[in-house]
Parts: sequence; C-alpha cells; structure tokens
Amino acid sequence: MSPRPNIVFIMSDDHAAHAISAYGSRINETPNLDRIADGGMRLDAAFCTNSICAPSRAAILTGTYNHINGVTTLATPLDNSLWTFTHALGDAGWQTAIFGKWHLGHGPHADPTGFDTWRLLPGQGHYHNPVFVDSEKGIDEVGGYVTDLITDDCIDWLDGRDPEKPFALFCHHKAPHRTWEPDAKHFTMYDDVEIPFPDTFRDDLVGRAEVVQAVKMRMLDLDPIIDLKATVPEGLTLDEEIDWRYQRYIKDYLRVVASIDDNVGRMLDWLDANDLADNTIVVYTSDQGFFLGDHGWFDKRLMYEESLQMPLLIRYPEHIAPGTTCDDIVVNVDFGPTLLDLCGVAPADHVQGRSFAPLLAGETVDDWPEAMYYRYWMHNDGDHAVPAHYGVRTRTHKLICYYNDPLGQLGANGPANPVEWELFDLVDDPLEVNNIYGTPEAASTTAELLDELSRLQEKYGDDPFPQDL
Ligand code: CA
Repeated sequence: MSPRPNIVFIMSDDHAAHAISAYGSRINETPNLDRIADGGMRLDAAFCTNSICAPSRAAILTGTYNHINGVTTLATPLDNSLWTFTHALGDAGWQTAIFGKWHLGHGPHADPTGFDTWRLLPGQGHYHNPVFVDSEKGIDEVGGYVTDLITDDCIDWLDGRDPEKPFALFCHHKAPHRTWEPDAKHFTMYDDVEIPFPDTFRDDLVGRAEVVQAVKMRMLDLDPIIDLKATVPEGLTLDEEIDWRYQRYIKDYLRVVASIDDNVGRMLDWLDANDLADNTIVVYTSDQGFFLGDHGWFDKRLMYEESLQMPLLIRYPEHIAPGTTCDDIVVNVDFGPTLLDLCGVAPADHVQGRSFAPLLAGETVDDWPEAMYYRYWMHNDGDHAVPAHYGVRTRTHKLICYYNDPLGQLGANGPANPVEWELFDLVDDPLEVNNIYGTPEAASTTAELLDELSRLQEKYGDDPFPQDL
C-alpha cells in the first residue's frame, strides 16, 4: 500500500442508493458510478447520523456527532476553528481543495478552513449559470450547468497541482438536490417511458407514529410549478394526480443524476489518462439518502432506510479488491478517520468515528459495532413538518423515539408533541410498514434496544430526552 495515496472524494446531495445501478436500482442506470463499485467496494450498510445536508457534512468533516460539532440543523453553521480531517491532511503535506456545495455557512467564522483552495456555491446554489464564492476571486459567475462547472473546476485544479505532492480533492455536487433542474443534454431523457413505482408508494402509514403520518413530504406536497415545472392536468382523479406527480418528480431527479454520472466518468477518465487510478482513493457518496416515492414521500430527514442509508462506493486498487461488498455498519463520522488511516495520518484524539480501513481490505473485525446511533434535531422546520427523533439501528431492528420537541435548537420550531415510538423488524419487514412497538411479542427486543440506545448515548456523550422512558 502506498504511504501517500491521493484522494478524490465525490459527494452529491440527496442521491439515494436505490438510484444507483450498482445498488440494484430498478429505475435508472449509472455506468460510471458502477465503475467505482466494479473496481472497489460497495458498502451496503453506510448510514448518516442525521439525515440532512449541513449536519451530515459537518459529521463527515469533523468526525464527530452533531451534538459535539454544533451543526444540529440547517441553521447552525460550522465553526471553522474546529478540527477537520482535511486539516490533518494539509498538515501532513497533502494539497487540498473543495469545489461545489458547502452549505455550512459563509463569513469569517464559517468560510472553509482546512483547504488550500475552495470555490463554492453560496447556500444551495443554482443549477444554471450559478454564482460561486472563490477563495481567490471572491464572487465569481460563469455560464453553464452546475454539475459540469464543478467538475471543470476539479479537473482544472488537478491539472495545475504540484505533481510531486499527494492531493485530496473534494468534489461536492449540488445535484440532485431539490428542485431537480436537468441540463439540456438530459432534458428529454425518460420522456417516453414510465418509471417504476416503489413497492410502498401507496403506503397508508397506518400503525406508524402520528407525527410520521403528518409529515409534509407527500407527492401532494410538491409544488407543481417550482418542483414539477408544470400545471396539474385537468380531469385527473386523486390517485392519477399522485401518479402524475411522481413521474414528473422522479424523471427530473434521474435526469439530474445522469449528469452526475457523466461527470464522475470525466473524473475517472482523467485519473486513467494521468496514470493515477492505482494510487488514488476514489469515494462516491451522498450526504444522506432520499425518498424516491417510497412510503409516498420525497425528501429525507426520517430514520427510515431510504433516507438513512448513504451510498458509499470506494475504489483503491492497492487496498481494496475489485467488485467486493461489505454489510458491516459504518457511519458518516467514520469517513474521515478511515481516509486518514489509508493515508497513514493520525486523527485528532477527540474524534468519535473509527477507521473502517480493515473492512475495506476484506478483513473481519471482531469488535466492530453492531449498532448505530441517529438523531434528527430540526423539529418542525416549517416546511416538511418532520419531528425531532433519535434511535438505534442494529443489523436486524430499528427503534425510533419521536421525542417531538425543538429543545431550543436554532432552526427547530414548536409545537412540542407527545413522545411516540416505532420499532421495525428489518428482517421480516425490510420495507418498514409494520410498527411492532408496544406489542407483547416485541417486549424483550424493545428492552434490549432501549439498553443499546442508552449505551450509545452515553458512549457518544449525548443527552436522552428527559421524558422518553
Ligand atoms: Ca442533502
């Protein structure tokens, strides 16, 4: 293994694993993302610790949970005096740069640190003719499509780097975040086909927590003009309108994904052409998953599988056998320690994540965690109406406590609601439609999961909601 590999870390925004053909997508093909999987490892149990943009990005960079790094919601910028794993790479001699989506605040205390160069979209940024904030030029605007432009910036930086030093490049795409605006090349893709509907598209949510039944992430909550770029045809029944909305939504989502796939191909081609593929760690991930009509929803935030799972494909021929998979549980706070480990660089002592480099090499790690901890803080953001909750996921079960309280978090709003619980058996009920919390058969499992939840909260230093037990 080379002591100083390069890193190309590609992260998109809201790209669910079930819209990647390497993960068995039923709705699209992603041949270039599949190149990473074919040449390396597909991780099948990679999860975010808080399924929303800024908090997941902060967890990745800092290697800590959101109650530690302070980025609990979209309204909490990342304090740029905090240690990130990119600081450690820079200190160890890596050239570092980040291009694209930042979404962790701007200004003297929030502009990126730990990167030699950055060129970023302010806030969410725009799909067409976006403005960038550039570490050297300040505000800069160039014409074009955002996914192409971010990739251009990455390749320009690679071409201009010092070839004598290793590099760590962070390519953070805005796509496929709402409002899913395709480029001209993919504008009519899927026009003549019907995209398959997910198995749970007509989930009536019976038996789930009341606050889950009330979330505003249904097809009917999409804005026809802004999200679907059309007016609803006249004369449709309610079900027909819901179906029509799904097709409009998912086709634009997949068109935007197709552009990401093309541009990932450009990055991989550049590595091949420059004879750097063997000594470069290529990562493809997304800051969280997304509901693609699953349970009738779009968006993320909830601890359900489609939202919780992050796609994670890693290629590094010197360490990872091609075409391999891993079903051990890893989380986003582990990403930084893992990349540092592969580079032979030590993380800071306070880091909570753990390197899964041995798993990438196909090794069995006897004491690897069998459960992960999750917490969504942004109670009732004012738009999606998703409640604050935390929970534990093991290989076989998921226990969720909707504690339903903003707890004074910036970006979270009232009202608080009564505590509710959900429990899913992921073996018998992988689609999570049968909440077994409170049933006599689930009593012993519930007790075990409550113990595990408490153990993880204590381990990571988080406080349980005072009324949850
Ligand atoms: Ca996101």
